[in-house]
Amino acid sequence: MSTDVPFRILPQLTDNNRAFWQGGERGELVFWRCQDCKFYIHPPQPICPMCHSKNLATEAVSGDATLTTYSVNYQPWMPGPELPYVVAIIEIVEQPSVRLTTNVVGVPIEALEIGMPLHVVFEHHPDPDGDVWIPLFAPPGYTS
Ligand SMILES: [Zn+2]
Repeated sequence: MSTDVPFRILPQLTDNNRAFWQGGERGELVFWRCQDCKFYIHPPQPICPMCHSKNLATEAVSGDATLTTYSVNYQPWMPGPELPYVVAIIEIVEQPSVRLTTNVVGVPIEALEIGMPLHVVFEHHPDPDGDVWIPLFAPPGYTS
């Protein structure tokens, strides 16, 4: 993607969220994971909510996900995305409690189905404070 990258309000990078927002540079969707009970933690927290361990590390997941719910937006609430666009909640296959609010791309709106398989794709945003790769989701095999 190049000049047609839509406007986004970019996240402020911190030591806790940098792995998530910059994993896309390597094509990786990255979360914090408890090294004791193997729970993926998102959004980032300093302590595992399952076992209260502080033994956490970042790990890449497969990028495979399923569509949990979505809405179709026909209103330009902010400059940027081409209309209509899809705001969705997806669950990663490794742990359905990890949900992301994201956009689904590369599929006609009529073809969207709850439960359909999706795979992460990244939208690169150069930024002087640190480039960001926004994870979006598309049908498996989609290339932008
Ligand atoms: Zn844990």
